Parts: sequence; C-alpha cells; structure tokens
Amino acid sequence: MPESIVQPKIRGFISLTSHPAGCAENVHSQIREIEARMLPGKTDRTIKNALIIGSSTGYGLGAALTACFGYKARTLGVCFEKSPDNTKTGTAGWYNSAAANHAAEKNGLRYKTINGDAFSDEVKQQVVEQLRDEYGPIDTLIYSLAAPRRNNPLGDHWNSVLKPIGQVYSGKSFDLRQEKISHIEIQPATDEEIDSTIKVMGGEDWENWVALLDRENLLAPNFKTVAFSYIGPDLTKDLYRDGTIGRAKAHLESTADTIHALVDQNPKLRGDGSGGAWISVNKAVVTQASSAIPVVGLYMSILFRILNNRGENESTCGQGIRLFQDYLMQSSSVKTDDSRRIRLDNFEMLPEVQEQVTTIWGDITNDNLAELADWPYFKNEFARLFGFNMEETNYDKPVELDIPLNG
Ligand code: NAD
Repeated sequence: MPESIVQPKIRGFISLTSHPAGCAENVHSQIREIEARMLPGKTDRTIKNALIIGSSTGYGLGAALTACFGYKARTLGVCFEKSPDNTKTGTAGWYNSAAANHAAEKNGLRYKTINGDAFSDEVKQQVVEQLRDEYGPIDTLIYSLAAPRRNNPLGDHWNSVLKPIGQVYSGKSFDLRQEKISHIEIQPATDEEIDSTIKVMGGEDWENWVALLDRENLLAPNFKTVAFSYIGPDLTKDLYRDGTIGRAKAHLESTADTIHALVDQNPKLRGDGSGGAWISVNKAVVTQASSAIPVVGLYMSILFRILNNRGENESTCGQGIRLFQDYLMQSSSVKTDDSRRIRLDNFEMLPEVQEQVTTIWGDITNDNLAELADWPYFKNEFARLFGFNMEETNYDKPVELDIPLNG
C-alpha cells in the first residue's frame, strides 16, 4: 500500500485518524516507563500467561504492557478495533497492539492480540483455541472493557448510557468542540437504559469469561483476575457513581465477590490461597472512554493541574505497574478497602486534593479557565491517544498504514 501523510482529524471526543508511528512511539515510551519502574526484589511472584480483555488502549493496554514487558508474561489481548482499510488509517488500538507485538518479538517475548467482539461466542472460542494451542492455562486475567454496546443474542443490542438516575443532572461541563465551559442538563435514565448499561458494563460477561476458561481447564492454580472501576468525586457523583454507569460498576464489584468465591472454593484454582478476583478502583485518566463523558473532561483538567504540581499524576501504565507490583504480585494477601477493593485512586481522592478541586470548580469560568485548569495538558494527552503530538514522530513524513496486528 502507498505510504501516506497522516494528520489528526479530531471531532469532539474522537479522532477519525490515528498515526501508526506516533502510536508505536506512545507504546515504546510506556514500555520504557515499565522497564524503568520495575523494582528488583519488589515482586514475590511470576506470571506465566496473561489474558487482557480490552487490551488495546487505556488501562487494558497499561496492564498488558506491564504483564508482558514488566513480568515477561506470555500475553494475549482481546480488543475491538478497526483495521487499516486502503487509504483509511486503522484505529489507535490497532496500531498500539501491532507495536506491542513487534516490540515483544524483538525482545524474545510473546504479545498477541485477537481483534473482535469480546462479548461474542466466536471470539471467546478463538481465545480458548489460542490459549490451548500456544499458551496453556492463564494465571492472570484483566478485564478492562469500556464498550458502548453489547449485542443481544435475540438480534438486538444493549447500549451503555451515561445518565443520572431519578433526577435531572444539571451542571458545568466542557464542550470539547468549542473548547468552552458550558452548562448541561441530562435527563434521567429509564429503567430499560439502566438495565442495558448493566448488561454492557456490569460483570456478567467477566463472569462468563471466567466460567468458560474454567470449564476448558485454562485457569492455572493461584488464578487472579481484576476488573477496573471508578468512584470519583462528589462533583460527578450524581452523573457517574449514582448514575447508570455507577449501577453497572456496582454490579461489576459484586461480580468480583462471586468470582472470588468460585476461585476460593476450587482447590485446583485456589493454589496456595493467593488466587481470587478483585476490583481495582483506578484514578481518572484521559482515555477514549473517559473523554466521552460530559463533566469529566473539565474535572480532569482541574485535577491534573493539582496532581501534576504534587508529582502524583500517574499514567495508565503507572497504575498498571502499581497494581501488579504492590498488590497482585506480593506474597502477602492483597491490600483492599473495607469493600474488598484495591484503591489505586488514593492520590486523586486525598481530601486536600478534592477540596482544591471543589473550590476551583465553584470559581471556574471561561475567563479564568487557562489559569485554573490545565486544559492544554488534557488536550495534549487526548491527541497522544491517537498517536499525535509525540516528541519523536515526524508528522510530515509519509507512513505505511497497513500494519499487521500480529507480525
Ligand atoms: P479505553 O476506551 O481506553 O479502552 C477500552 C478497551 O475495550 C479497548 O481496548 C477496546 O478495543 C476494548 N473494547 C471495547 N469494546 C469491546 C468489545 N466489544 N470487544 C472487545 N474489546 C472491546 O477505556 P479505559 O478508560 O481504559 O477503560 C477501561 C476500564 O477502566 C473501564 O472499565 C473503565 O470504567 C475503567 N476505568 C477508567 C478510568 C478512566 O479515567 N479512564 C478510571 C477508572 C476506571
């Protein structure tokens, strides 16, 4: 295929193009961060085979890269991305996965990706076959899907919506197209919308994956699995935690207990007692999923200025490293809060940080936006999701678009 010059085509909270070389640079910089931060002697355990569902961007990518390049785990990812098509670029997750595969091969490691709908039986079957043929039982499963919809076997589909429950949400937001603070009102969800969001973003499919892999004898002793959740501040509570997505997260969190009991009661999986299922409550980061959430963009622009000043603004792979190094890979039992959740959002949720955010939130207007919030940082992070604004990539140089996912 002829090479092309790729420019960003940003439309609100999505870019219609992704830069293959920029995405590769982004992945390489995450690998360097992981290699630099792996502390010898900090880990008591090893990972042989890891499966990451939702592996191509955001938190799933951070976890997949940490497993592969930090722990030398043979890593299999599942994602739902668009391949390059003639003169159209593939999506960023396609190029991220291809770059991770390439880097792994160069380092004698294994990182492969299956691209397709993780909710479907076909993709589940492909994963089973690939694990059986090329990997063996997995000891780690990270569930990091952020999906807008799930096909319903009856031919219809369920949509995930972000709406308040029982009341209208009214408040400040940020209009990404106009780059201005705006006022939004979001009508409450119907019962059907609440149920649909739980179907997509709740724990049912996570449990289905674990049950299937267990039936197929593809779970190793001391099997550990983690799904990601978010709690966030009071400012976004009516829309997020008390809204439709919060209901789905509550379902995901109770599914962790169900799976944990399943592992604990199964002598084959329980191993030395360290296996189980956990929720990791992560910090707010700019990802394709989070930038689509109204209100959250403005909140993050305020939060990141404060966390950056404190030197506490972790990246997705920074959180991935902490998850493995300080929690999953220790021989002592996994440290959790009273609801048995791993808390990686501790810096974000510090009372003094949240007090500052709340004060700024009350004062912020279009006139003082630049002074009170780090909107340029948010925008830069957003562009980098699609491989733009990377330091070493030459955006005037034509690049090959047609890059295979797995070597
Ligand atoms: P993201 O948009 O960066 O990644 C989503 C991943 O899911 C991608 O790999 C995508 O290809 C994959 N995916 C989507 N639909 C799929 C499907 N049908 N089949 C297979 N793969 C599919 O999202 P993210 O922000 O990293 O979110 C991942 C998880 O982390 C979510 O549960 C989210 O709620 C949670 N989380 C996010 C934040 C945040 O601030 N971004 C904070 C805390 C927790």
